[in-house]
Amino acid sequence: MSDTPRLRITEIFFSLQGESTLVGYPTVFVRLTGCPLRCGYCDTAYAFQGGEWMSLDAILEQVSGHRTRYVTVTGGEPLAQKNCLPLLQRLCDAGYQVSLETSGALDISATDARVIRIVDLKTPGSGEVERNLYQNMGHLQAHDQVKFVICSRADYEWAKEKIEEHDLTGRCELLFSPSHDQQNATELADWILQDQLPVRMQLQLHKYLWDNKPGH
Ligand code: SF4
Repeated sequence: MSDTPRLRITEIFFSLQGESTLVGYPTVFVRLTGCPLRCGYCDTAYAFQGGEWMSLDAILEQVSGHRTRYVTVTGGEPLAQKNCLPLLQRLCDAGYQVSLETSGALDISATDARVIRIVDLKTPGSGEVERNLYQNMGHLQAHDQVKFVICSRADYEWAKEKIEEHDLTGRCELLFSPSHDQQNATELADWILQDQLPVRMQLQLHKYLWDNKPGH
């Protein structure tokens, strides 16, 4: 039996980055299978189970078939599989600009320092606010990004409080996204402007281009 590190993978695909400060760049997405959370608005429930075991070598090989320097490791919750850490390191060593999309419920401190961590701080509207691991806020670097998915005005107010409480302004990028089916985007934009918040509002580009079909 081989002892090559392996990961359970739902899909590897090439698309445009739909979120974060890297939005719009052609990017290879490596979607790891499994997530310990169950957010009410989750749009990747198909990644909770199934998938295929792949060695790190096979993942790197498949990623290299696409001509881009951007790779996003996502899920599910990628950090729920321990071999996510060596995968991130191998991708960085291979020269990719690597971003990691994580729920904020698992410890980010052991990830390679070159990785841009996009930490989704779960709002009350997600139904998983109790899972936030606030120690992660102490590990953020300037290139990291904290994302708030806003489902309502109450979530918006909560997000403002967390930015203040954890002194996040200026420490890393701050992203506000309207929950696609729950929060009107224009209304959120108006709130941000009224409060002159130093955050970046984002719409999920892939949902407008491909209606969130798997593989895009
Ligand atoms: S953490 Fe992400 S993948 Fe997991 S349930 Fe929440 S939205 Fe879905």
